[in-house]
Amino acid sequence: MGGYFSDIFYGGKSLLVGLSITFREFFKPTVTVQYPYQTLKMSKRFRGHIELLGDDEGKTKCVVCGMCERACPSGCITLGSVSVDIEVDGKIKKKKVLSKYDLDFTRCSLCGQCVENCNFGAIDFSKEYNLASTRKEDFHFNLLERLKRMERLEVKNA
Ligand code: SF4
Ligand code: SF4
Repeated sequence: MGGYFSDIFYGGKSLLVGLSITFREFFKPTVTVQYPYQTLKMSKRFRGHIELLGDDEGKTKCVVCGMCERACPSGCITLGSVSVDIEVDGKIKKKKVLSKYDLDFTRCSLCGQCVENCNFGAIDFSKEYNLASTRKEDFHFNLLERLKRMERLEVKNA
């Protein structure tokens, strides 16, 4: 008989403890979001995959010096360039223009060597965290195309 009442007592006590925790948490600020309808804003120091940065006109700042490609210890970066004619002070000169900036994110360790070695501020870590796929091909990024897409998005949302 004693065991019966002690079970009721401890059962009731545990229920009250549980409810008090629920009640306390109820008034604390919300730290979760309604994923995937809401997304988080990443901190300044967050490292997503690298991305090309655009200038004021949305064009790449990359001068195809190749430093990032050489600095990457994992061989993630593949650059391509084309030579175009430009007019400087009435004279036609050749200029190297970026035609390809591919990133194999499956091999990237986010070490930051590429970003640190770019003297033109042309690349940085993106705030992209929402990446999921079962196909590794989905982690091969055409960063030049991505820059153009982001620019189009910004123009559309302006
Ligand atoms: S963060 Fe490191 S591993 Fe990733 S692309 Fe840059 S240099 Fe390569
Ligand atoms: S180091 Fe910078 S400027 Fe040079 S190729 Fe890489 S992104 Fe372009």
